[in-house]
Amino acid sequence: MQLNNTTVLGTGVLGSQILFQTAYHGLPVIGFDISEEALEAAKTRLDSLVAVYGEFFGEPTKAQAARDSIKLTTDMALAVNNADLVIEAVPEDLKIKEQTYQKLASLAPEHTIFATNSSTLLPSDISPFTGRPEQFLALHYANHIWKNNTGEVMGTANTSKEAYEAVVDFAERTGLVAIRVLKEQPGYVLNSLLVPFLESASHLLVNEVADAPTIDTTWKIGTGAPFGPFEIYDIVGLNTAYHIASHGGETSKKFAELLKSEYIDQGKLGVATGEGFYKY
Ligand code: NAD
Repeated sequence: MQLNNTTVLGTGVLGSQILFQTAYHGLPVIGFDISEEALEAAKTRLDSLVAVYGEFFGEPTKAQAARDSIKLTTDMALAVNNADLVIEAVPEDLKIKEQTYQKLASLAPEHTIFATNSSTLLPSDISPFTGRPEQFLALHYANHIWKNNTGEVMGTANTSKEAYEAVVDFAERTGLVAIRVLKEQPGYVLNSLLVPFLESASHLLVNEVADAPTIDTTWKIGTGAPFGPFEIYDIVGLNTAYHIASHGGETSKKFAELLKSEYIDQGKLGVATGEGFYKY
């Protein structure tokens, strides 16, 4: 089974990158969003990705052609009526996911496979709303897909082997390194490693064991890694870090307070604003 015609539901930060990545690798794609306003925002994002892909891959003409091939609509029936694969990237809210899949289930052709890009919900949380649990799984992209090109493929106990393999094949044909996650795991592989790593670093800082540059330097020299944990915090963005830390235990909450008072309240949100733990 080869998946070609692709539909992306939700054209936000990740949805617009998924559209571009898929189009850049030569597949027909259409994006759906809930309003003309949302589609206007998507057009701005897609336009800015032309330069990003053009520079990264050194083929600006190909990047422009990919942009020009992407269709957008607010009509879900039209978006999915010819889809082999629907990739869902709507907001991380179970109620919105439920409503989206219930509508999708009634509109998509029988053969269509559904994949969620959800970061924190498990596919089995969503599977009951899909009407086709054997053709449903997660395909999880990382932000900045063109360079951080992992595609974590994770099914539920009900996902068929055919659907799983078809999505692995789709991931590889669209420039991803397919990561076979063999059973359901909150955080997939990447965030199962990254989240506790970053948390450990934050505890060393809050407990005044070492300062941020010392922790980063130790990690980089000791392992040969290109970035230390606080450089990664700056890349992820300190608002996201704050959100995660404020839901943690006592030491993590102290880290959240530090992030807010020392950085966020002063507009220092990381690489995106030119300053976080470091200046850029
Ligand atoms: P976002 O808020 O940037 O985009 C969500 C889009 O969905 C918006 O365009 C919004 O208009 C649209 N939308 C809202 N309600 C909708 C509905 N009912 N039906 C269809 N579209 C609707 O969010 P995002 O950061 O792109 O995240 C989307 C999904 O991708 C989430 O599940 C998130 O966990 C996952 N994800 C995000 C990242 C990241 O770094 N941002 C990385 C990997 C996975």
